[in-house]
Amino acid sequence: MNSQNKEGKATNFIRNVINKDLSSGKYESIKTRFPPEPNGYLHIGHAKSICLNFGTAEDYDGYCNLRFDDTNPAKEDIEYVNSIKKDVKWLGFNWEGEVKFSSSYFDIFYQYAEELISKELAYVCFLSSEESREYRGTLKEPGVNSPYRDKGIEENLTLYRKMKAGGFNEGECVLRAKIDMSSSFMCMRDPTLYRIRFETHHQTNNEWCIYPMYDFAHCIGDAIEGVTHSICTLEFQDNRRIYDWILENLDDFNHSNRPHQYEFSRLNLEYATTSKRKLKLLVDNNHVDSWNDPRMPTISGLRRRGYTAASIRSFCERIGVSKVNSLTDISILESSIRDDLNISAPRSMAVINPIKLVIENYPEGKIESLQAPIHPQQEEMGTREIFFSREIFIDNSDFLEVAPNNKYKRLAINKEVRLRNSYIIKATHFDSDRDGNVKTVYCTYDLDTLGKNPSDGRKVKGVIHFVESSKALSAEFRIYDRLFLESNPANFDDLSSLINPNSLEIKNGFVEPNLSNAAAERAYQFEREGYFCRDNESEGLVFNKTVGLRDTWNQ
Ligand code: ATP
Ligand code: MG
Repeated sequence: MNSQNKEGKATNFIRNVINKDLSSGKYESIKTRFPPEPNGYLHIGHAKSICLNFGTAEDYDGYCNLRFDDTNPAKEDIEYVNSIKKDVKWLGFNWEGEVKFSSSYFDIFYQYAEELISKELAYVCFLSSEESREYRGTLKEPGVNSPYRDKGIEENLTLYRKMKAGGFNEGECVLRAKIDMSSSFMCMRDPTLYRIRFETHHQTNNEWCIYPMYDFAHCIGDAIEGVTHSICTLEFQDNRRIYDWILENLDDFNHSNRPHQYEFSRLNLEYATTSKRKLKLLVDNNHVDSWNDPRMPTISGLRRRGYTAASIRSFCERIGVSKVNSLTDISILESSIRDDLNISAPRSMAVINPIKLVIENYPEGKIESLQAPIHPQQEEMGTREIFFSREIFIDNSDFLEVAPNNKYKRLAINKEVRLRNSYIIKATHFDSDRDGNVKTVYCTYDLDTLGKNPSDGRKVKGVIHFVESSKALSAEFRIYDRLFLESNPANFDDLSSLINPNSLEIKNGFVEPNLSNAAAERAYQFEREGYFCRDNESEGLVFNKTVGLRDTWNQ
């Protein structure tokens, strides 16, 4: 789908358009924008749009604006503005100059609306919303002109000014474009340009009681900012007609290098929803703890879970940009973070389901300090100090009384394994509780096997991890599974019935002492267990599982 250009980046139809526009001289340089509405936190779908808009501008030495599309005060909040700025920066992108707000153009939008009224291209309409729906017609039936459509310019200007001055109630009237009630594009049947809302706006307070619609504000915002390529998702394909109609009918913007809109397919990710409205419902209905719950496909949730910005950018590069809607396999996202962490994550040992192991021929009271590599393939990352003594913790799943078969590589009675970064041990006997759960395993160790194979040539294949008991730090592990039971939740309206009841499992175990100051959001590879990072919102040592070591999704 995406062939490579000479910088090794996948090319796509948008880059092809840009190449053409630059070589024909239509534009001298390119400018894009990322226009979130501050009515929720950004999600992985937005990351696709961010990488496309900021990434493309960067590659062509152009600019990208961050513009808040804040024309609907009822649903917007400054909390969202701040989180969006943080997430864009964290993803590694910088906007041109100050952050922009559509609301800072409200005066200008207002003037342009008057220009359309003066050209008999807009009118104030008093049909109720129900009546408007009836007048609009259907895909098969043309619409019917509003009875208010042919009032004169002066009357419309007076009414529009009265709307602005607060002279009408919410819902009493709207400003509409006068286009074509029989257009085959429903959105061209005299779309609403302005409506009345008595709401306090997070940027303009109570200065306005009329607010422009997206279709009116967006294209003008682009044109004011000198955007060349206005990239949005496919749902807006039909609305491109309004985009063009408005700019072509405003004297300031009816020129050949005005902005143009291009549509690409939105990201739909398996087992996730990329609708802010639905994500907000998950939070409001307490299906998750917050917008940045590590199970959420939000940028802040992924960050808290241990995803790196580089891995999200790499994911966006892998999925490419096209005009075909599809459902993206979650394993592509997971392999992006796994590939990154495999190279970069420091190694450590954590015992998630601890049982005690006593090494009976090891001196009582002795604690040995050992050095273990931080990354086995990257010597330059150095070593870390781990400890060894007579009592250590191992994972419950690494011991069975009797090895089930010859392939079994863990510990069993009379069987040897190597303790990772340390000695070879052999289990001799064990204690269990009344329910038959193993409590303590007893072993002997071979003193002559630290960092080397046994001198008698016997082969010990299994390796298990451990943490020395007196120095071990207690830690909580949060292990996540898919949030939804269905791979394509978009097919369902009510997500609450699809929630996986086992999407979070909490375990209490132990980690190496050198993790006492582990930085939040920075993943470690807990050997044999997976990638984990310290939670950024919890007191104490709480680790979120980022992803497993291998793709076990389809097993
Ligand atoms: P939502 O339905 O989640 O509110 P939206 O499109 O209304 O989505 P905006 O805040 O308006 O959200 O989105 C800002 C930009 O991000 C838009 O250009 C939009 O097209 C793009 N975008 C939103 N969701 C996705 C997605 N799933 N994949 C790609 N781009 C997306
Ligand atoms: Mg939107």
